[in-house]
Amino acid sequence: ATPTAIMVGVGKGAENNLLIKDAESLELGYKVNALVLDKTGTITEGKPVVTDCLWTVPADERSLPEAVLYAMEAQSEHPLAEAITRYISSSDRMAITLDGFESVTGRGVSARYQREEYYVGNQKLLQDHSVPVGDELSRQANQWQEEAKTVIFFAKDQQVLAIVAIADPVKATAKQAINTLQGRGIAVYMLTGDNAQTAAAVAEQVGIKHYRAEVMPATKADFVKALQTKGYVVAMVGDGINDSQALAQADVSVAMGKGSDIAMDVAKMTLITSDLNSIPKALQLSRKTVQTIR
Ligand code: ADP
Ligand code: MG
Repeated sequence: ATPTAIMVGVGKGAENNLLIKDAESLELGYKVNALVLDKTGTITEGKPVVTDCLWTVPADERSLPEAVLYAMEAQSEHPLAEAITRYISSSDRMAITLDGFESVTGRGVSARYQREEYYVGNQKLLQDHSVPVGDELSRQANQWQEEAKTVIFFAKDQQVLAIVAIADPVKATAKQAINTLQGRGIAVYMLTGDNAQTAAAVAEQVGIKHYRAEVMPATKADFVKALQTKGYVVAMVGDGINDSQALAQADVSVAMGKGSDIAMDVAKMTLITSDLNSIPKALQLSRKTVQTIR
């Protein structure tokens, strides 16, 4: 496209809440035939809230484990951790100092307190440490996951102390935007570090047919690469530190505003609205920009 057409395109982008850093991506956008979306913060609001909590510990014995859970999540930067610390009441919480704290990618966190090992995270984290989950807890966890909630397990050594359900509703515009894109023949994929059941529920809510769950950050980039190898021109939309490798790999990359600085650094475009309808608009804008000079 001519410099003038590009300038007009960049200006139109800004009017539509899309900041275009790299003009080349504007020229490529119309060729995009595969779109990869991160779940949390891209398809969902990204403001997780605890909805339910089931303890295996009697109410009068919870103050210590609750304090440990709080202290562990207070040290984590994960959005789910924030939801949990907001949920645990501060009024009568004991202040404690953890001995060891470790963050396990794609799993959760672990820490030691008074020589006992504590874990907060997904079911894989428990599996890694051979912590059994009883039938009743499993049933409850499955039910929450079918409601598209993320379930976090809290364990001490070999015993699950509590399970926590966290809801992160899908964006009001997600379904429509995805439908528009699919209607234009673009293959839409969702990737998430979350578990398969929750991923399936969210995918169904927004009409996504292809998704991958329990994906590690590097795997997100590999997924994009595999699509490119098959001949797809791939756009990736994400917001987290987790997404930066995949954003760098994609042909066209869009960071969601209010996402992590790294994501915005790497991506060639930034959407300063949470409205996913801006994505089909951006691809349309690319088409118009390129057509202007033909
Ligand atoms: P995503 O950003 O897609 O959720 P992550 O790799 O960051 O992917 O996390 C994967 C999963 O690991 C989360 O869905 C959650 O189950 C678990 N997890 C990670 N960090 C924490 C934490 N601080 N507290 C509880 N669970 C966590
Ligand atoms: Mg994310």
